[in-house]
Amino acid sequence: YDDRDGKIWLDGTLVDWRDANVHILTHGLHYASSVFEGERAYNGKIFESLRHSERLLASGALLDMPVPYSVQELEAAKYEVLKANGLTDAYVRVVAWRGSGEDMGVASAKNPVRVAVAAWEWGAYYGDAKMKGAKLDISKWKRPSPETIPTSAKAAGLYMICTMSKHAAEAKGCSDALFMDYRGYVAEATGANIFFVKEGEVHTPLPDCILNGITRQTVINMLRDRQIKVHERHIMPEEMEGFEQCWLTGTAAEVTPVSQIGDYTFEVGALTREMSDAYEKLVRN
Ligand code: PMP
Repeated sequence: YDDRDGKIWLDGTLVDWRDANVHILTHGLHYASSVFEGERAYNGKIFESLRHSERLLASGALLDMPVPYSVQELEAAKYEVLKANGLTDAYVRVVAWRGSGEDMGVASAKNPVRVAVAAWEWGAYYGDAKMKGAKLDISKWKRPSPETIPTSAKAAGLYMICTMSKHAAEAKGCSDALFMDYRGYVAEATGANIFFVKEGEVHTPLPDCILNGITRQTVINMLRDRQIKVHERHIMPEEMEGFEQCWLTGTAAEVTPVSQIGDYTFEVGALTREMSDAYEKLVRN
């Protein structure tokens, strides 16, 4: 991703893609002092852009790492990047991190918080699983307790186990991994939230140690608009035996059907298809 033409917004200015570099002693690289957002633009408009900017600032605050730009400045930066790269349909990555500076120890309050915005074309996150249904592996790692790490932040440190789990899943021919949480309840995938359908009602984990995804909240509202009952609750893994349909939600994943999790199988059913299509209509407005 580094050797290409284009522009990246770095600390307030557009720089050439190849020059958007950081020093090797960047604090964020050594200690995971980094928060980020993943957003999608459709027809030139970023879906829920403000909410993503707000979440970035909230994630920074949770890491004691105040992001030195306002929501409005981030909004302007994102659209500047889309325009500079001639993009209307794209994935937008905003990242904020502790840079290099006076401190190279764990404490880094004197090091600047830096921000970058990049955008590129990114098609279906799970490839042809969007049609056929994704196969998920069950991760051996557990989503941690909110007393262990600030689980509501979209922070780099929380993705270490995601990368490891996804590698293990892909080695088994799966598209992604599903985490259980520290209590044993069903949690989320490595970059998406999960929903289940049983007897016309929808069940999804409570966001008490998972990322409360913006897509998740959008889909819950869409279901409730359709008078479909949504139960946000703790879900035991054994319950997956009785669930009929399953899908994942996320900015990158959108609404992707799931056909298998470990030994549990699901049909790519009518409600899954309906929500996937309705989400696509909504974001394209
Ligand atoms: N959980 C995790 C761990 C994620 O990385 C993401 C993607 N940001 C999601 C859930 C879905 O969040 P959103 O719908 O806001 O993209």
